[in-house]
Amino acid sequence: MNIRVGTGFDAHAFGPGDSVALGGVRIAHSHGVVAHSDGDVILHALCDALLGAAGLGDIGQHFPDTDLRWKGVASERFVTAVREMLRQHGYVVGNVDLTLLAQAPRISAHREAIRENVARLLGLEATGVNLKATTTEYLGFIGRAEGLAALATVLIERIAAPST
Ligand code: MG
Repeated sequence: MNIRVGTGFDAHAFGPGDSVALGGVRIAHSHGVVAHSDGDVILHALCDALLGAAGLGDIGQHFPDTDLRWKGVASERFVTAVREMLRQHGYVVGNVDLTLLAQAPRISAHREAIRENVARLLGLEATGVNLKATTTEYLGFIGRAEGLAALATVLIERIAAPST
C-alpha cells in the first residue's frame, strides 16, 4: 500500500508570557505556554501525524524534552527534520488536516497565515493544508483556558524506495 494515514495530538498548559506559537505563527495572547520547546501544539501534533503515517514513532522519541538541544527551539525545526525523515523513506505528503482546540486565543485572523506557513514547511500548496478551530464550549481544561490542544491528520504517499 503506497498511501498511508497518520494522526497526532498535542496539548500544552498556558503559563507566563504574552504570545503563543501556532503553526509557526506567533500570536499575541494574555499567556504563553509551558513547554521545553516553543510549545507549538499545531506543529507538534503535525509531526506526530507525519511520523505515525510513516511508521516512525513519535516526536518524543526523536526530539526528547530531556535533550538540551531542543530547549526553546522553534518547532518549525522539528517539522523540517520530520519532513526530511519522510523524504529519506520515500514519502511525500499528500494533505494535512489540522484542528486547534482552544477557548482562546481565537485564530480566525491568523488562519490563512498559519495555513500558508504549514504548507511552506511541507512544500505543499496552501490548498494541501486545512486548519479548523473549535472551542470546547467552556468544558474541561481547554474550556477553562488552562491550556490548548491540537489534532492533526495527514495522508502520505510512498513515491520512491527508502534511501539508505
Ligand atoms: Mg508538545
